[in-house]
Amino acid sequence: MGAPEAFTATTEVGHFIAGRVVPSTSGRRQPVWNPATGQVARQVALASAEEVNSAVAAAVAAQPAWGDTPPIRRARVLNKFLELMNQHRDTLAAMITAEHGKVFTDAQGEVTRGIDIIEFACGIPQLLKGDYTDQVSTGIDNWTLRQPLGVVAGITPFNFPCMVPCWMFPVALACGNAFILKPSERDPSPSLFMAELLKQAGLPDGVFNVVQGDKVAVDTLLNHPDVKALSFVGSTPIAQYIYETGAHHGKRVQALGGAKNHMVVMPDADIDQAVDGLIGAAYGSAGERCMAISVAVLVGDVGDRIIPKLAERAKALKIRNGMELDAEMGPIVTKQALERIEGYIETGVKEGAQLVVDGRGYKVPGHEQGFFTGGTLFDHVTPSMRIYREEIFGPVLACVRAKDFAEAVKLVNEHEFGNGVACYTGDGNVAREFARRIQVGMVGINVPIPVPMAWHGFGGWKKSLFGDMHAYGEEGVRFYTKQKSVMQRWASSTPKGAEFAMPTAK
Ligand code: NAD
Repeated sequence: MGAPEAFTATTEVGHFIAGRVVPSTSGRRQPVWNPATGQVARQVALASAEEVNSAVAAAVAAQPAWGDTPPIRRARVLNKFLELMNQHRDTLAAMITAEHGKVFTDAQGEVTRGIDIIEFACGIPQLLKGDYTDQVSTGIDNWTLRQPLGVVAGITPFNFPCMVPCWMFPVALACGNAFILKPSERDPSPSLFMAELLKQAGLPDGVFNVVQGDKVAVDTLLNHPDVKALSFVGSTPIAQYIYETGAHHGKRVQALGGAKNHMVVMPDADIDQAVDGLIGAAYGSAGERCMAISVAVLVGDVGDRIIPKLAERAKALKIRNGMELDAEMGPIVTKQALERIEGYIETGVKEGAQLVVDGRGYKVPGHEQGFFTGGTLFDHVTPSMRIYREEIFGPVLACVRAKDFAEAVKLVNEHEFGNGVACYTGDGNVAREFARRIQVGMVGINVPIPVPMAWHGFGGWKKSLFGDMHAYGEEGVRFYTKQKSVMQRWASSTPKGAEFAMPTAK
């Protein structure tokens, strides 16, 4: 592969309302940084309540006709969108690298995992097929169907500016809803690009809108009576706030929160595979993934065997501008996030954990102003330490020693987060018991980052998810529709006359 083309636009990132890009009218905006260079690259508009209200009004106007469009025709628009997303995958990936910092190949993977959901949503006619009981009583039939909610909104985090919105809007649109996306203000460009592609695919104006912004935009959506449901992905305190406030206003809410994902390594595991798994899952995307592994639970003698190997690999990470093709890890998203991560490393040292590899103060030649830190490795971390309990969301791997399988399972189950977890073992029965007993929503057996495929649905347990339903998959279809039951009786059927052409959806 040749060098990818970098994303260097300098124009303001505006909103997308009623089918066109709308610049900030309120005058509120903030800088968007390129984390690899440490420079301001462009500005993003921050919506006022009036701007959000105009997006909701556009969605309210457009939704009834879209909701009435036969599902197969909605699927055809999504099919065209799917084709465009595949065509522009690298453009989107370069935007992600430019604003988030993750390496280009990882950004390509993000776009691909988003595209998977669009592909799933193209199957909406089958997914919306209701059920039917003939003759529940003499001459009476009963069936259920699922109808769209109306206008729904999604509020998304910085760490997957393409994939996480794609967890939401393709399914919501396929179900016949109008959608308002409030992306992260830290990497807003992919949202606008996807809005343009949806328009090109033939989506009617107003069915998909983007409002850029901060708390003002979020609170307006939370309080708006015409917004019927909210999907949120982000940190736990904000997820809880969204869930409680949305529910208070009578909305349907799914709010996915933070994580502290463990990988249990059993003594019978293939240690080299476990090392590969841990290095990729702890330091990939600089640990800024909700499914990143941030704790390794080393069972029995695994600790002494694995720590030297992990240390060697953590020190050898290729940390660069993510647009360089051999980069394994890019910068941290913002200077504030970098300071928070390095602050946690300081805390870990003070708490008495053994700092095996210290990533602080890492400099990349030619990118001295970039927001870089190296890979950090702690050993002998204990459950009472803040670096164990709290989400650091950076390239910091905390290793905890456990005497046996039971102690390892107890440790995971007692943690307040329950997003993802992995177990590396060579024993099928241990694997089976682990998957059954563990109190976590997504489990990997010898798989470090078990992000479920598009048709399985994504969601954690405990403080990692507020609400009843997981994102995408059939749970997503249920979330974005309401069930209706119809019971019908006819005295006699009405003749329609002969039809000679093959009936088609119109
Ligand atoms: P964040 O909670 O800071 O922001 C998420 C969204 O909420 C953004 O759109 C932001 O503008 C908005 N927001 C921020 N503060 C707000 C406030 N006070 N009131 C209203 N809205 C507010 O999260 P982030 O830093 O963008 O993303 C990282 C976090 O997201 C991590 O905690 C990570 O674990 C989590 N995450 C979870 C999942 C999951 O599936 N569970 C997936 C990705 C990221």
